[in-house]
Amino acid sequence: MSDQDIARLAGRYFDGKTSRLHRVTLAVADGVAHLAGDVERRAPLASLRVSERARHAARKVTFDDGAWLELDDRAAFERLLAASGHRDSGVVRLQQSWRGVLLALAVTVAVVLGAYVYLLPAAATSVANALPVGVERQLGQGVLEVLDARVLAPSKLPRARQAQLRGQFAALVAPEAGAPGWQLVFRSSRIGPNALALPSGDIVLTDELVNLLQDDQAVMGVLAHELGHLHRRHLTRRLLESSAVAAATWVIFGDVSSMLAALPTVALDMKYSRDAESEADDYAVAMLRHNDIAPEHLAQAFVKLGKGSDGPTSSYLSSHPATAERIARIRAAR
Ligand SMILES: [Zn+2]
Repeated sequence: MSDQDIARLAGRYFDGKTSRLHRVTLAVADGVAHLAGDVERRAPLASLRVSERARHAARKVTFDDGAWLELDDRAAFERLLAASGHRDSGVVRLQQSWRGVLLALAVTVAVVLGAYVYLLPAAATSVANALPVGVERQLGQGVLEVLDARVLAPSKLPRARQAQLRGQFAALVAPEAGAPGWQLVFRSSRIGPNALALPSGDIVLTDELVNLLQDDQAVMGVLAHELGHLHRRHLTRRLLESSAVAAATWVIFGDVSSMLAALPTVALDMKYSRDAESEADDYAVAMLRHNDIAPEHLAQAFVKLGKGSDGPTSSYLSSHPATAERIARIRAAR
């Protein structure tokens, strides 16, 4: 085979250990994939896992050590695969065909209807509660990486300060029976003061929020509120509600990529229902009270967030409106 016969495709390579992006080109010859550019690598085609075809996602090629390659030019990639004798699995071809799409749609409708009719009235809640924790973790995996690439940066808080806040929160959670697993993740952000809980149990806390509140017990209140969301699996529920088709694809075909594609958007543009917010507030207030911390600290957190609402605080505020009603409710909680 001459060099001109070998098509080179531009792609993005990730080593699976850091979020660093490497620009590479991919060529395939004699059953071996060659990467060149920032990273030089060869691997037999048979050792690679090629992601299923999805209409709007980049194709992903995973190496046996967990590194992966993303390719945007799907058409060229498919020609390359065809030329090298690769065949998509039956499931993939089914997903691609219109009949398959209709079948998937019918099954989706049946699953969703079935969920609404036969499970407990709050269908998404039931589905979320029925999910094994391991599956939720799978759902949350990679989300932080995507957020890191788009809106988050490493925290500038000193390690000792991070450890201090982590220790305070661990002490706060300790007396709670049945509290969900959590890990506190410190970041700075382009989205201002923020805190959000991912289905993996990661609670992301931004430096900007710590600096705005200037009160560790208020920070504890916000973290307890986020733990309340985790406890009630609000994000998983919201995700199931907002992308039922992606959820069904995931359940039926085991293809998690469409869910993963939706999750960062949902996580950042989170608009929990008022009920969900109240549940999380109640959870936080109860936790603060168990620890002899006045719920006023949480009320003050919302007051401070509300005052900064012209600035970059709006992203947390849009998901957590600091209404007078909410603040009054926290203050009145017994
Ligand atoms: Zn909330």
